[in-house]
Amino acid sequence: MDDFYAEGDLVAVLTTQPLDRPLDYRAPEGGCWQGGFVEVPLGPRRVLGVVWGPGQGDYDLSRIRAVHRALDAVPMRAELRSFLARAGDYTLTPLSAMLRLATRAPGLGEAPSMRRIYRLGEGEPDRMTDARRRVLEVLRDMGGLALTLGELAETAGVTTSVVKGLTKSGAVREEDAPRDTPFPRLDPDYGGKDLTGDQQTAATALREGVASGRYGTTLLKGVTGSGKTEVYLEAVAECLAQGRQALVLLPEIALTSEFLTRVEARFGAKPAEWHSGVTVTERRRVWKMVSGGGAELVVGARSALFLPFRDLGLIVVDEEHDTSYKQEEGVLYNARDMAVLRASINGAQVVLASATPSLESWANADAGKYRRLDLTARFGEAVMPEMRALDMRAEDLPGNRWISPSLQAAVRLRLERGEQAMLFINRRGYAPVTVCRACGHQIGCSQCDARMVEHRFLQRLVCHQCGETIPKPSACPDCAAEDKLAAVGPGVERLAEEAQTLFPDARLSVLSSDLFGSARALKEAIETIAAGGADIIIGTQLVAKGHNFPLLTLVGVIDSDLGLQGSDLRAAERTFQLMRQVAGRAGRAEKRGTALMQTFQPEHPVIRAILSGDEEGFWKAEAGERMAAGMPPYGRLAGVILSSTEVQEVFDLGNAMARQDAPLRRIGAQVYGPAPAPIARVRGRHRARLLVKAPKGVALQPALAEWTAQFRLKGSLRLAIDIDPQSFF
Ligand code: ADP
Ligand code: ZN
Repeated sequence: MDDFYAEGDLVAVLTTQPLDRPLDYRAPEGGCWQGGFVEVPLGPRRVLGVVWGPGQGDYDLSRIRAVHRALDAVPMRAELRSFLARAGDYTLTPLSAMLRLATRAPGLGEAPSMRRIYRLGEGEPDRMTDARRRVLEVLRDMGGLALTLGELAETAGVTTSVVKGLTKSGAVREEDAPRDTPFPRLDPDYGGKDLTGDQQTAATALREGVASGRYGTTLLKGVTGSGKTEVYLEAVAECLAQGRQALVLLPEIALTSEFLTRVEARFGAKPAEWHSGVTVTERRRVWKMVSGGGAELVVGARSALFLPFRDLGLIVVDEEHDTSYKQEEGVLYNARDMAVLRASINGAQVVLASATPSLESWANADAGKYRRLDLTARFGEAVMPEMRALDMRAEDLPGNRWISPSLQAAVRLRLERGEQAMLFINRRGYAPVTVCRACGHQIGCSQCDARMVEHRFLQRLVCHQCGETIPKPSACPDCAAEDKLAAVGPGVERLAEEAQTLFPDARLSVLSSDLFGSARALKEAIETIAAGGADIIIGTQLVAKGHNFPLLTLVGVIDSDLGLQGSDLRAAERTFQLMRQVAGRAGRAEKRGTALMQTFQPEHPVIRAILSGDEEGFWKAEAGERMAAGMPPYGRLAGVILSSTEVQEVFDLGNAMARQDAPLRRIGAQVYGPAPAPIARVRGRHRARLLVKAPKGVALQPALAEWTAQFRLKGSLRLAIDIDPQSFF
């Protein structure tokens, strides 16, 4: 039972301001609850806070101010407070920053009130214009949901008077609604499918786990199209039947709309949605409904983990291996690991679903920490694609062409049969390098040490590191020679150009995240492809993620070797996952698919493991190498990134840190570096990194805290710690 503080009691309030501890205040008139959301005076301002516990009383009592007011929001539960504290300890993040993650909704304290909303009406507009059509399209997209005038006008890109005009004819309905309404109830028995034997076994095991009301994590491993989604929706059904809430995390917003449709087919209504594409009003509604129990299921991005669930019973992490679960800016956390932490605090189950699990999850299952369930067959007629390497050393191909004659022939065959082919290359833009043929100069970013990537579609050069763009120059910035700049290497746009030349009659669709202005545009492109509206699909890793293209029977991987270069710890793992995911796109319906991988090293162990389909063999070999090297998941790593506008400051501090490493040596950890970070300069700041390697099972975080506390950050120096880094070197 949470404590209540009477008016005048001393309470400690945690705010979202960067202070190192909660501050003492006096409880306001009417008192306040432990966990209650409050507004407190801080200097001249009023800031949001949470009553974290009894006041510490170590501050001049006469100067303590009163809480300004208690907000009309459900108090933060002990479970979430404990989660924030432990996640903060793990990632070495101050609590105030953790609280910011948990309060990412505007107007939390506002009392419920009425507001005017707009939804699709029955009437026909008296006349149709482009602007009006866009408004109606947006409303149709919302599937019955309503928006405020401002939101609707902004989403449709029209003025508010266009919306107002549509209400006259009744094409758009205007009504008053309470600000935050509950989400429709989901019916766990609505539309369940008949499961196959394998699926049934897995679903029963997951249901039992949820019904137990205890913590447990399951790795649900199944080839693409084996019915993992169907199976984990059964776990969701059990969770709903138990009266607890469920959360499904997806790695990519573009996947949500397809998923929402499936949820509706299974449970009779759509769930709550939480990601960056959700309107501000809707976010507030979700936040409030989740805490009050008016939302049973949330589908969202990693930040949904910090929502104030009333009673979270299940977290599904779909495509659990996906790198986008690791937040790489601000608070550096891995949503997959944090899901396990939150579930363990709240007696909830976690399902990690993937066709190609991360080595971490594979190893946890191998060690018996996670349960593992396997779906080995594809559903229905669909069978795994045939996979072959195309040895590029034997292909006759000029240096500025990337589709080999063998791959061309395979594509041509699909075109003749009216099937789809996909060409995959994991590089956005037209060409990765622009070089001057007169002087050899390569165009780089002025803010970073990265090369600028030509985007012909935008007619600009773009830095993929910091986003800086410049118009493509006609003269070399170094030697001023005119018309000597040449594009070197392939990107997805250049590949599209080559494909169009080779197959002039084919309908091409290029899928690359930067070519779509909105999630909606991307969703439309994906639906068009699924309906057969394209013959050749050209894509970056965007296409590797879970879309269902029934007519697709050929996948050609342009550069299978791309991920094998470089010294990244996870290069082999990533390449293995990506290639299997891409190959999984082919032949998801009745027709058998083929995956062809262009490679210059067909004998490379990773390529051979992909082709042979010996997954367990690959994981065992990879695990063996990591274990021998004491690398994750068999040892622990932490990255320390130092940055400053002054390069000397960065290395002076880095060297001092490397020398004064006693707190680390005490736990048997070693420091490597400082070395220039992979991109040594980003947005004008110089960066260096140190890598700390520790044995598994030692108290790494306290040692890191003690170590870094020895140093004062002067001038523009910044220090960030990345526990379990995913990308480095
Ligand atoms: P995965 O998540 O493993 O990629 P899905 O759950 O998306 O697999 O299943 C692939 C396709 O097969 C989907 O269209 C799904 O609806 C269908 N499917 C899977 N299992 C069944 C089943 N038991 N009955 C009917 N359709 C199924
Ligand atoms: Zn840059």
